[in-house]
Amino acid sequence: MQNDTDSRLRRLRGPVQPKRHNARTIAALTSNPGCVRRGLCDAAGVDKGALAERLDFPVRFGQSQFAITRGNAFEAQVKADGCAELVTLLREVLDLDITEVGYTNFDEVGGNDSQDLRHAHSQATLLAAAAGRDNAGTLFDHPLLRLDVAGVGVYLEPDLIAFQHAGIFHVIEIKSFAVIDGQADGGKVASAAIQSAVYVHALRTLLGSDDAVSSDIVLVCPKDFSNRPCATKVDVRKQLIVLQHQLNRLARIEALLDALPIGVSLDLAKDDDGQPVLTRAELVQAMDCIEARYSPECLANCELAFFCRDEATGGTATLGKSVREELGGVELVNVALGLAAGSLAASDEQAEIAALLRAAARIYRESMSPGGGAQAARVAA
Ligand code: SF4
Repeated sequence: MQNDTDSRLRRLRGPVQPKRHNARTIAALTSNPGCVRRGLCDAAGVDKGALAERLDFPVRFGQSQFAITRGNAFEAQVKADGCAELVTLLREVLDLDITEVGYTNFDEVGGNDSQDLRHAHSQATLLAAAAGRDNAGTLFDHPLLRLDVAGVGVYLEPDLIAFQHAGIFHVIEIKSFAVIDGQADGGKVASAAIQSAVYVHALRTLLGSDDAVSSDIVLVCPKDFSNRPCATKVDVRKQLIVLQHQLNRLARIEALLDALPIGVSLDLAKDDDGQPVLTRAELVQAMDCIEARYSPECLANCELAFFCRDEATGGTATLGKSVREELGGVELVNVALGLAAGSLAASDEQAEIAALLRAAARIYRESMSPGGGAQAARVAA
Protein backbone atom coordinates (compact mmCIF):
# COMPACT_ATOMS: atom_id res chain seq x y z
CA MET A 1 0.00 0.00 0.00
CA GLN A 2 2.79 2.41 0.98
CA ASN A 3 4.70 1.50 -2.20
CA ASP A 4 1.58 2.18 -4.23
CA THR A 5 1.15 5.56 -2.53
CA ASP A 6 4.80 6.39 -3.10
CA SER A 7 4.64 5.51 -6.78
CA ARG A 8 1.45 7.56 -7.26
CA LEU A 9 3.10 10.52 -5.56
CA ARG A 10 6.17 10.03 -7.79
CA ARG A 11 3.92 10.08 -10.86
CA LEU A 12 2.36 13.34 -9.70
CA ARG A 13 5.81 14.89 -9.10
CA GLY A 14 7.50 13.50 -12.19
CA PRO A 15 11.06 12.14 -12.42
CA VAL A 16 12.68 14.92 -10.40
CA GLN A 17 14.09 14.94 -6.90
CA PRO A 18 11.43 15.58 -4.22
CA LYS A 19 11.64 18.91 -2.46
CA ARG A 20 12.82 18.51 1.11
CA HIS A 21 10.62 19.56 4.00
CA ASN A 22 11.83 21.55 6.93
CA ALA A 23 10.21 22.84 10.09
CA ARG A 24 9.27 26.05 8.30
CA THR A 25 7.32 24.22 5.59
CA ILE A 26 5.60 21.94 8.11
CA ALA A 27 4.68 24.91 10.29
CA ALA A 28 3.28 26.61 7.17
CA LEU A 29 1.48 23.42 6.14
CA THR A 30 -0.56 23.58 9.31
CA SER A 31 -1.76 27.08 8.39
CA ASN A 32 -4.14 25.68 5.75
CA PRO A 33 -4.80 22.01 6.54
CA GLY A 34 -7.96 21.91 4.42
CA CYS A 35 -6.14 22.59 1.14
CA VAL A 36 -5.94 19.41 -0.97
CA ARG A 37 -3.61 21.06 -3.49
CA ARG A 38 -1.05 21.94 -0.88
CA GLY A 39 -1.40 18.58 0.87
CA LEU A 40 -0.72 16.68 -2.36
CA CYS A 41 2.12 18.94 -3.51
CA ASP A 42 3.85 18.70 -0.13
CA ALA A 43 3.34 14.96 0.20
CA ALA A 44 4.71 14.40 -3.32
CA GLY A 45 7.63 16.77 -2.71
CA VAL A 46 6.66 19.03 -5.64
CA ASP A 47 8.89 22.11 -5.78
CA LYS A 48 6.09 24.65 -5.34
CA GLY A 49 8.41 27.62 -5.94
CA ALA A 50 9.52 26.19 -9.30
CA LEU A 51 5.92 25.28 -10.15
CA ALA A 52 4.79 28.85 -9.41
CA GLU A 53 7.51 30.12 -11.78
CA ARG A 54 6.32 27.79 -14.55
CA LEU A 55 2.75 29.00 -14.00
CA ASP A 56 3.93 32.63 -14.39
CA PHE A 57 3.03 33.47 -10.80
CA PRO A 58 6.47 33.49 -9.15
CA VAL A 59 6.73 33.44 -5.41
CA ARG A 60 7.37 36.78 -3.75
CA PHE A 61 8.20 35.83 -0.22
CA GLY A 62 10.93 34.03 1.66
CA GLN A 63 14.06 34.99 3.49
CA SER A 64 16.42 37.40 1.75
CA GLN A 65 19.93 36.18 1.00
CA PHE A 66 21.17 38.76 3.51
CA ALA A 67 18.96 37.31 6.27
CA ILE A 68 20.07 33.74 5.43
CA THR A 69 23.75 34.72 5.50
CA ARG A 70 23.33 36.61 8.77
CA GLY A 71 21.42 33.69 10.29
CA ASN A 72 24.12 31.20 9.27
CA ALA A 73 26.91 33.43 10.60
CA PHE A 74 25.16 33.90 13.94
CA GLU A 75 24.51 30.16 14.26
CA ALA A 76 28.16 29.39 13.45
CA GLN A 77 29.31 31.93 16.06
CA VAL A 78 27.06 30.49 18.77
CA LYS A 79 28.14 26.93 17.98
CA ALA A 80 31.87 27.67 17.67
CA ASP A 81 34.30 25.62 19.79
CA GLY A 82 31.85 22.85 20.50
CA CYS A 83 29.08 25.31 21.48
CA ALA A 84 31.17 26.85 24.28
CA GLU A 85 29.24 30.16 24.28
CA LEU A 86 25.93 28.35 24.10
CA VAL A 87 26.73 26.06 27.02
CA THR A 88 27.35 29.09 29.26
CA LEU A 89 23.96 30.52 28.30
CA LEU A 90 22.20 27.19 28.80
CA ARG A 91 23.66 26.79 32.27
CA GLU A 92 22.03 30.09 33.20
CA VAL A 93 18.66 29.68 31.52
CA LEU A 94 18.15 26.00 32.43
CA ASP A 95 19.80 26.37 35.82
CA LEU A 96 22.25 23.57 35.13
CA ASP A 97 25.09 22.46 37.27
CA ILE A 98 27.34 20.62 34.88
CA THR A 99 31.04 20.71 34.40
CA GLU A 100 31.29 18.79 31.18
CA VAL A 101 29.18 18.25 28.11
CA GLY A 102 29.42 15.84 25.23
CA TYR A 103 28.92 17.31 21.77
CA THR A 104 27.90 15.34 18.66
CA ASN A 105 27.43 16.72 15.15
CA PHE A 106 25.06 14.83 12.86
CA ASP A 107 25.74 16.66 9.58
CA GLU A 108 27.34 13.48 8.30
CA VAL A 109 28.29 9.98 9.43
CA GLY A 110 31.87 9.05 8.61
CA GLY A 111 31.88 11.37 5.59
CA ASN A 112 28.51 10.09 4.34
CA ASP A 113 25.62 12.56 4.41
CA SER A 114 22.84 10.22 3.25
CA GLN A 115 19.58 11.06 5.00
CA ASP A 116 18.83 7.43 5.93
CA LEU A 117 22.22 7.05 7.58
CA ARG A 118 22.07 10.39 9.38
CA HIS A 119 18.59 9.61 10.68
CA ALA A 120 19.60 6.12 11.87
CA HIS A 121 22.66 7.57 13.63
CA SER A 122 20.60 10.37 15.21
CA GLN A 123 17.95 7.94 16.39
CA ALA A 124 20.44 5.49 17.90
CA THR A 125 22.37 8.22 19.69
CA LEU A 126 19.32 10.05 21.02
CA LEU A 127 17.71 6.82 22.24
CA ALA A 128 20.96 5.87 24.01
CA ALA A 129 21.08 9.30 25.64
CA ALA A 130 17.43 9.04 26.71
CA ALA A 131 18.19 5.63 28.23
CA GLY A 132 20.98 7.26 30.22
CA ARG A 133 23.74 5.22 28.66
CA ASP A 134 27.24 6.46 29.41
CA ASN A 135 28.93 8.69 26.85
CA ALA A 136 25.75 9.08 24.82
CA GLY A 137 26.25 12.83 24.89
CA THR A 138 24.47 15.96 25.95
CA LEU A 139 24.53 18.34 22.99
CA PHE A 140 23.23 17.11 19.65
CA ASP A 141 23.90 19.35 16.67
CA HIS A 142 21.57 18.96 13.65
CA PRO A 143 20.11 15.55 14.49
CA LEU A 144 18.01 14.34 11.55
CA LEU A 145 14.45 13.66 12.65
CA ARG A 146 11.54 12.10 10.80
CA LEU A 147 7.89 13.00 10.99
CA ASP A 148 4.76 11.59 9.43
CA VAL A 149 3.01 14.29 7.44
CA ALA A 150 -0.31 13.38 5.84
CA GLY A 151 0.60 9.70 5.82
CA VAL A 152 4.05 10.21 4.33
CA GLY A 153 7.29 10.16 6.32
CA VAL A 154 9.43 13.26 5.80
CA TYR A 155 12.89 14.01 7.09
CA LEU A 156 13.44 17.19 9.02
CA GLU A 157 16.82 18.77 8.96
CA PRO A 158 16.41 20.94 11.97
CA ASP A 159 18.41 23.99 12.71
CA LEU A 160 18.55 22.88 16.29
CA ILE A 161 20.49 21.44 19.07
CA ALA A 162 18.69 19.17 21.46
CA PHE A 163 20.14 19.57 24.88
CA GLN A 164 19.70 16.66 27.22
CA HIS A 165 19.98 17.03 30.97
CA ALA A 166 18.66 14.72 33.69
CA GLY A 167 16.71 12.71 31.13
CA ILE A 168 14.86 15.70 29.65
CA PHE A 169 15.65 17.08 26.20
CA HIS A 170 15.31 20.74 25.36
CA VAL A 171 15.02 22.03 21.83
CA ILE A 172 17.31 24.98 21.21
CA GLU A 173 16.33 27.31 18.37
CA ILE A 174 18.93 29.80 17.13
CA LYS A 175 17.53 32.84 15.32
CA SER A 176 19.27 35.98 14.12
CA PHE A 177 16.51 38.49 14.87
CA ALA A 178 17.42 40.82 17.71
CA VAL A 179 16.05 40.95 21.24
CA ILE A 180 16.16 44.63 22.19
CA ASP A 181 15.61 45.61 25.83
CA GLY A 182 14.19 42.13 26.44
CA GLN A 183 11.64 42.49 23.60
CA ALA A 184 11.60 40.80 20.19
CA ASP A 185 9.30 41.07 17.17
CA GLY A 186 6.12 39.18 18.18
CA GLY A 187 5.56 37.73 14.70
CA LYS A 188 9.11 36.38 14.52
CA VAL A 189 8.89 34.84 17.99
CA ALA A 190 5.54 33.24 17.07
CA SER A 191 7.01 31.80 13.90
CA ALA A 192 10.09 30.48 15.81
CA ALA A 193 7.75 28.96 18.40
CA ILE A 194 5.69 27.00 15.84
CA GLN A 195 8.87 25.78 14.10
CA SER A 196 10.28 24.69 17.46
CA ALA A 197 7.00 22.93 18.23
CA VAL A 198 7.54 20.89 15.03
CA TYR A 199 10.96 19.81 16.38
CA VAL A 200 9.57 19.02 19.83
CA HIS A 201 6.84 16.91 18.24
CA ALA A 202 9.32 15.09 15.96
CA LEU A 203 11.74 14.48 18.84
CA ARG A 204 8.95 13.13 21.07
CA THR A 205 7.92 10.84 18.22
CA LEU A 206 11.47 9.59 17.78
CA LEU A 207 11.92 8.94 21.51
CA GLY A 208 8.41 7.51 21.88
CA SER A 209 7.75 9.65 24.93
CA ASP A 210 6.15 13.06 25.42
CA ASP A 211 7.70 13.41 28.88
CA ALA A 212 11.22 13.06 27.52
CA VAL A 213 11.12 16.41 25.69
CA SER A 214 10.34 19.65 27.46
CA SER A 215 7.63 21.92 26.05
CA ASP A 216 9.85 24.84 27.06
CA ILE A 217 12.20 25.51 24.16
CA VAL A 218 15.21 27.81 24.43
CA LEU A 219 15.33 30.65 21.91
CA VAL A 220 18.81 32.05 21.29
CA CYS A 221 19.01 35.47 19.59
CA PRO A 222 21.45 38.40 19.34
CA LYS A 223 21.10 40.78 22.25
CA ASP A 224 20.31 44.46 21.68
CA PHE A 225 22.41 45.82 18.81
CA SER A 226 25.34 43.44 19.27
CA ASN A 227 26.17 39.93 18.12
CA ARG A 228 26.22 38.71 21.73
CA PRO A 229 23.69 35.91 22.14
CA CYS A 230 21.02 35.79 24.80
CA ALA A 231 18.77 32.85 25.65
CA THR A 232 15.11 32.87 26.66
CA LYS A 233 12.76 30.01 27.50
CA VAL A 234 9.56 29.94 25.42
CA ASP A 235 6.60 27.77 26.33
CA VAL A 236 5.32 26.09 23.13
CA ARG A 237 2.50 24.01 24.67
CA LYS A 238 -0.17 25.98 22.78
CA GLN A 239 1.69 25.59 19.47
CA LEU A 240 2.08 21.85 20.11
CA ILE A 241 -1.67 21.44 20.61
CA VAL A 242 -2.39 23.35 17.38
CA LEU A 243 0.28 21.41 15.47
CA GLN A 244 -0.85 17.98 16.65
CA HIS A 245 -4.48 18.82 16.05
CA GLN A 246 -3.82 20.08 12.54
CA LEU A 247 -1.47 17.25 11.59
CA ASN A 248 -4.16 14.80 12.69
CA ARG A 249 -6.72 16.67 10.65
CA LEU A 250 -4.72 16.46 7.47
CA ALA A 251 -6.62 14.12 5.22
CA ARG A 252 -4.96 10.78 4.61
CA ILE A 253 -3.00 11.17 1.41
CA GLU A 254 -4.42 7.98 -0.14
CA ALA A 255 -7.92 9.47 -0.04
CA LEU A 256 -6.69 12.63 -1.77
CA LEU A 257 -4.89 10.58 -4.42
CA ASP A 258 -8.02 8.48 -4.98
CA ALA A 259 -9.98 11.64 -5.82
CA LEU A 260 -7.42 12.70 -8.42
CA PRO A 261 -8.20 11.96 -12.10
CA ILE A 262 -5.84 9.38 -13.61
CA GLY A 263 -2.80 10.85 -15.34
CA VAL A 264 -2.71 14.22 -13.54
CA SER A 265 0.91 15.31 -13.37
CA LEU A 266 2.82 18.36 -12.16
CA ASP A 267 6.01 17.12 -13.81
CA LEU A 268 8.56 19.97 -13.95
CA ALA A 269 11.25 17.91 -15.70
CA LYS A 270 12.84 18.91 -19.01
CA ASP A 271 13.48 16.69 -22.00
CA ASP A 272 16.85 16.00 -23.64
CA ASP A 273 16.59 19.28 -25.58
CA GLY A 274 16.11 21.23 -22.37
CA GLN A 275 12.42 21.84 -23.11
CA PRO A 276 9.79 21.38 -20.36
CA VAL A 277 8.00 18.05 -20.63
CA LEU A 278 4.69 19.74 -19.83
CA THR A 279 3.58 23.10 -21.23
CA ARG A 280 2.24 25.86 -18.99
CA ALA A 281 -1.29 25.17 -20.25
CA GLU A 282 -0.96 21.48 -19.30
CA LEU A 283 0.27 22.43 -15.83
CA VAL A 284 -2.65 24.86 -15.39
CA GLN A 285 -5.01 22.10 -16.48
CA ALA A 286 -3.48 19.74 -13.91
CA MET A 287 -3.79 22.39 -11.19
CA ASP A 288 -7.47 22.82 -12.08
CA CYS A 289 -7.98 19.14 -11.23
CA ILE A 290 -6.66 19.60 -7.68
CA GLU A 291 -8.95 21.38 -5.26
CA ALA A 292 -7.52 24.44 -3.53
CA ARG A 293 -8.73 26.43 -0.55
CA TYR A 294 -7.32 29.88 -0.97
CA SER A 295 -7.33 32.49 1.79
CA PRO A 296 -5.25 35.68 2.12
CA GLU A 297 -3.06 33.94 4.74
CA CYS A 298 -1.68 31.84 1.85
CA LEU A 299 0.25 34.91 0.70
CA ALA A 300 2.64 34.57 3.65
CA ASN A 301 2.76 30.78 3.73
CA CYS A 302 2.59 29.12 0.34
CA GLU A 303 4.60 29.55 -2.85
CA LEU A 304 1.50 28.97 -4.99
CA ALA A 305 -0.41 31.86 -3.42
CA PHE A 306 -0.43 34.23 -6.42
CA PHE A 307 -1.66 31.52 -8.78
CA CYS A 308 -4.37 30.42 -6.33
CA ARG A 309 -5.39 34.02 -5.62
CA ASP A 310 -5.81 34.70 -9.33
CA GLU A 311 -7.81 31.50 -9.72
CA ALA A 312 -10.05 32.47 -6.78
CA THR A 313 -10.77 35.97 -8.13
CA GLY A 314 -14.41 36.82 -7.59
CA GLY A 315 -14.76 34.30 -4.76
CA THR A 316 -15.60 35.29 -1.18
CA ALA A 317 -12.56 33.24 -0.06
CA THR A 318 -10.30 36.06 -1.30
CA LEU A 319 -11.79 38.31 1.41
CA GLY A 320 -10.47 36.13 4.24
CA LYS A 321 -11.47 33.13 6.31
CA SER A 322 -13.74 35.09 8.66
CA VAL A 323 -15.70 36.63 5.75
CA ARG A 324 -16.02 33.21 4.09
CA GLU A 325 -17.29 31.70 7.31
CA GLU A 326 -19.70 34.59 7.96
CA LEU A 327 -21.05 34.19 4.43
CA GLY A 328 -21.31 30.40 4.82
CA GLY A 329 -22.47 28.88 1.53
CA VAL A 330 -22.18 32.09 -0.53
CA GLU A 331 -19.12 31.38 -2.64
CA LEU A 332 -19.09 34.37 -4.99
CA VAL A 333 -18.75 38.07 -4.26
CA ASN A 334 -21.31 39.06 -6.93
CA VAL A 335 -23.86 36.68 -5.40
CA ALA A 336 -23.27 38.28 -1.97
CA LEU A 337 -23.72 41.75 -3.53
CA GLY A 338 -26.88 40.63 -5.36
CA LEU A 339 -28.36 39.25 -2.12
CA ALA A 340 -27.43 42.44 -0.26
CA ALA A 341 -29.05 44.65 -2.91
CA GLY A 342 -32.11 42.41 -3.12
CA SER A 343 -31.60 42.01 -6.88
CA LEU A 344 -31.02 38.26 -6.44
CA ALA A 345 -33.63 35.94 -4.96
CA ALA A 346 -32.27 33.97 -2.00
CA SER A 347 -32.62 30.19 -1.88
CA ASP A 348 -33.97 28.61 1.33
CA GLU A 349 -30.40 27.96 2.54
CA GLN A 350 -29.42 31.56 1.82
CA ALA A 351 -32.45 33.19 3.50
CA GLU A 352 -30.72 33.93 6.81
CA ILE A 353 -27.47 35.28 5.36
CA ALA A 354 -29.45 37.28 2.76
CA ALA A 355 -31.40 39.04 5.55
CA LEU A 356 -28.13 39.88 7.33
CA LEU A 357 -26.55 41.16 4.11
CA ARG A 358 -29.58 43.37 3.37
CA ALA A 359 -29.44 44.79 6.92
CA ALA A 360 -25.69 45.46 6.56
CA ALA A 361 -26.26 47.14 3.19
CA ARG A 362 -28.99 49.35 4.68
CA ILE A 363 -26.76 50.42 7.58
CA TYR A 364 -23.94 51.15 5.16
CA ARG A 365 -26.20 53.28 2.90
CA GLU A 366 -27.53 55.24 5.88
CA SER A 367 -24.08 55.84 7.31
CA MET A 368 -22.92 57.17 3.93
CA SER A 369 -25.87 59.57 3.51
CA PRO A 370 -25.40 63.19 4.74
CA GLY A 371 -25.81 63.23 8.53
CA GLY A 372 -26.47 59.52 8.42
CA GLY A 373 -23.65 58.42 10.76
CA ALA A 374 -25.60 58.95 14.01
CA GLN A 375 -28.73 57.36 12.60
CA ALA A 376 -26.76 54.32 11.38
CA ALA A 377 -25.14 53.97 14.81
CA ARG A 378 -28.63 53.90 16.41
CA VAL A 379 -29.78 51.25 13.91
CA ALA A 380 -26.65 49.15 14.50
CA ALA A 381 -27.12 49.40 18.29
S1 SF4 B 1 -1.73 29.03 -1.95
FE1 SF4 B 1 -3.03 27.56 -2.98
S2 SF4 B 1 -2.03 25.58 -2.71
FE2 SF4 B 1 -1.12 26.97 -1.25
S3 SF4 B 1 -2.31 26.64 0.63
FE3 SF4 B 1 -3.24 28.38 -0.45
S4 SF4 B 1 -4.84 27.50 -1.70
FE4 SF4 B 1 -3.52 25.83 -1.07
